[in-house]
Amino acid sequence: MGLLVAYKFLKLGHKVTIFEKEIGPSLNNCSMTAAGMLSPYCELIHSDKKIFDLGCDSTLRWNEIIKDLKKKIFFKTRGSLVLSDREHESEIKSICSRINKYTNSSFSILSNKKIKTLEPEIDSTELIGLFFKEEGQIDCNQIVDNLIKFLLDNDSQVRFGCEVKKIRDNSIFLADKEKIIFDHVIECSGLLSLNNKNKLRAVRGEIIEVVAPEIKISRPVRLNHFRYPVYIAPREKGVYLIGSTEIESEDFSPVSIRSGLELLNSSIAICKSFSEARIIKLSTNCRPAYPDNLPKIKIKKDYISANGLFRHGYLLSPVIADLVVDYCLKDKKDKNLSYIYK
Ligand SMILES: Cc1cc2nc3c(=O)[nH]c(=O)nc-3n(C[C@H](O)[C@H](O)[C@H](O)COP(=O)(O)OP(=O)(O)OC[C@H]3O[C@@H](n4cnc5c(N)ncnc54)[C@H](O)[C@@H]3O)c2cc1C
Repeated sequence: MGLLVAYKFLKLGHKVTIFEKEIGPSLNNCSMTAAGMLSPYCELIHSDKKIFDLGCDSTLRWNEIIKDLKKKIFFKTRGSLVLSDREHESEIKSICSRINKYTNSSFSILSNKKIKTLEPEIDSTELIGLFFKEEGQIDCNQIVDNLIKFLLDNDSQVRFGCEVKKIRDNSIFLADKEKIIFDHVIECSGLLSLNNKNKLRAVRGEIIEVVAPEIKISRPVRLNHFRYPVYIAPREKGVYLIGSTEIESEDFSPVSIRSGLELLNSSIAICKSFSEARIIKLSTNCRPAYPDNLPKIKIKKDYISANGLFRHGYLLSPVIADLVVDYCLKDKKDKNLSYIYK
């Protein structure tokens, strides 16, 4: 969130300084753990319709940013699939009608044969589903690294290993009591927020990275299982992300055996060949969420915080960054989004 806000200010000709408590340049934060799916339609299965409204043009916004960065960044807009066992057809039908109603669309359930035309390696004959062709995905590590490089190459300061201890209006205070004054201070510190710490909660997510060069799945695939929901998000060079759990707990400990088994078992239900994939990384992090799971822009004079991105950091950060910049530079709030401003 912070990198995108900085990028937007920079593009408008402003000078930006980022304070990042991690040593860097490679970070280990929530944004680096994510799967980077840009799935406004799929999010309607569990989230408020407001998430769809905010994120429906996310792939277009990212497309512009990536074009501007002029770097090779894995960003695909081949759509995504939501699958369900034929046995649970009524559930996928109700998801379909909910999405059609909310988005004024006319999606229909795809047969197993149609699913295999889109993704021939999905081998279960029992899976039916939905296809959302406007959805996309982005490689989180590549975009974060390239945004940092872009900021550094364009005269911004990125102060790694520099923890902000306190913020008062437009002043920040560092560990050695150094005080620095800016025109605006934008806090995007996720779960470690200095502002509203007690209102944010942590939602643990575990994710497994595997390599399986022989499997050719080209777009994110979700299995809408009532006990073991899972998604498989393809990356470059035969790498797949299998995720993710959603556990109400501020627990950063390594992936549990139970979560690992559930995620990996569900991946095999989508494509049996995953049983021969090799596990290359297991990661855990916690999503920052407000009680209503919606993002918030909190304003105290020149001290603004943008936080609570929950499971929608990549989906929503381009639009939230624009709202922050509009507020700072034009004193403008979007009238239709009053639930975001506090
Ligand atoms: C397993 C998993 C899968 C996910 N998948 C998706 C997905 O597919 N699509 C999607 O849209 N979202 C996804 N998300 C959600 C997304 O990752 C988060 O919403 C997003 O990363 C939140 O970004 P942020 O910038 O608010 O927080 P962070 O990424 O945590 O960044 C905050 C930064 O602030 C720094 N910081 C904190 N305090 C201070 C301080 N006092 N001084 C200096 N620096 C400080 C931290 O070190 C950190 O680098 C997923 C999350 C998880 C855990």
